[in-house]
Amino acid sequence: MTPDEIQALLELQELDLKLLEYERHQDIVEAEIEKIEAPANGARARLEKLENELTLAKSQQKHFELELVSNNDKFKKLQTQQMGVRNQVEFEAFNHEMEALKERADALEESGIKWIERSEEAEKGIPEAKEALEAAEKTAAEQRAKLDAKTAELKRIHDEASKLKAPLVERIPNQVMSYYKRLRGRGRTPFAAVIRRGACSGCGFTHPPQRLQEIKQAKKLISCEQCGRIQVWLAEEEEQVGF
Ligand SMILES: [Zn+2]
Repeated sequence: MTPDEIQALLELQELDLKLLEYERHQDIVEAEIEKIEAPANGARARLEKLENELTLAKSQQKHFELELVSNNDKFKKLQTQQMGVRNQVEFEAFNHEMEALKERADALEESGIKWIERSEEAEKGIPEAKEALEAAEKTAAEQRAKLDAKTAELKRIHDEASKLKAPLVERIPNQVMSYYKRLRGRGRTPFAAVIRRGACSGCGFTHPPQRLQEIKQAKKLISCEQCGRIQVWLAEEEEQVGF
């Protein structure tokens, strides 16, 4: 590979790293959004639960109030009828029925009170739940704005980088390019690793001197025998290894 081809390969890799950053961001962005929205969703569910409880409690409260009214009406009606009875047996029968209604009135009242308590309990919790929801929504909105800005920025960089790729690909030999694409497909960065102090900068494997010479001469594509990355020799390496 000529210095120009090596230069093009490294520049292409720079662009691909930007593309990859956006691709990886896209892979996690949905999960990130879910994570951001979770507290607000939880707070919304808690508020809804309280509001439903309040609606139920109010309607049950109303139900028992009406039942009690109709129970009392029945009681009064019996009371009036009782005044008109002519014998003790009938009188006792009315008494018996009225006793039952009194007992029922107690039970209805007790149920009514239970629902009043539940309604008060729910009502008490609602303002706090509303505040919590508001706070959670505010936090979520702030975090979403940050995430969206990051997504937009990475996309801008991505789109810019993808436009610059084509002329670089032109400058790289096909054989190198197809091997590079395979490495890119595997996704383990970098794909082309420069030699530093006689070693592959991708995995740290130290090449024997003969191998370093071959990489330096760059007559053919040489990959690291440990990690498979394309090995690239830059001029500044010369001082480090002494040739
Ligand atoms: Zn390596």
